[in-house]
Amino acid sequence: MKIIGLIGGMSWESSLQYYRIINQLVKAKLGEPHSSKCIMYSVDFAEYEKLQHANEWGLLTEKMIDIAQKLEKVGADLILICTNTMHKMAPEVEKNIKAPLLHIADAAAEEIKEKKIKKVGLLGTKFTMEQEFYKGRLRQKHGIEVLIPDDKERQIVHDVIYKELISGIIRNSSKEKFKKIIEKLAERGAEGVILGCTEIPLLIKEKDSPIQVFDTTTIHAKMAVKEALK
Ligand code: GLU
Repeated sequence: MKIIGLIGGMSWESSLQYYRIINQLVKAKLGEPHSSKCIMYSVDFAEYEKLQHANEWGLLTEKMIDIAQKLEKVGADLILICTNTMHKMAPEVEKNIKAPLLHIADAAAEEIKEKKIKKVGLLGTKFTMEQEFYKGRLRQKHGIEVLIPDDKERQIVHDVIYKELISGIIRNSSKEKFKKIIEKLAERGAEGVILGCTEIPLLIKEKDSPIQVFDTTTIHAKMAVKEALK
């Protein structure tokens, strides 16, 4: 079994899910009492969130490269960045390590293509929804068309992530807002919706959406286990 290296703590609420899912999948595959070989480097998210909102992406890139290299040094055979947003730095991280970096958008794209879906909605932080690093990769590398919510809705999704979900706060009122936003994406032609923030699956489940849901936390963890057990 290969050792999975996890860059976590962004936030720890979602890293906890990664740890659980990875171990459950290994157990399902190999039987009791198997569990995953993994190493998590968990950051203090307060520092990172501040830098994200101050547009300090250069500094964040250096930090992410440093963590990935540290994980590699202590034996990680493959690396996962346990947040969609921080994949903004994935190309730079990838260039500076030898171990493979399993990209969360590629993992999502594989499942989307398996379901023969061509057009998806994307929910995530404003960074993920508005910038090209994520949507662009889905479009250019995988031929998937991506719809994002309007300005006001993007602000709602972003605020719910940073003010509630990263602190483990699950509000019914926020769930209702997300459901409406997903419905509108479906009306615009989205055949599925990417929960492109690793905390959103804490709030939105399959039953909350009229279209296929792609839970990036689970999908990414699944890809890691598949690779680790190859
Ligand atoms: N976990 C979130 C994501 O998947 C947001 C936290 C972050 O900004 O890294 O994008």
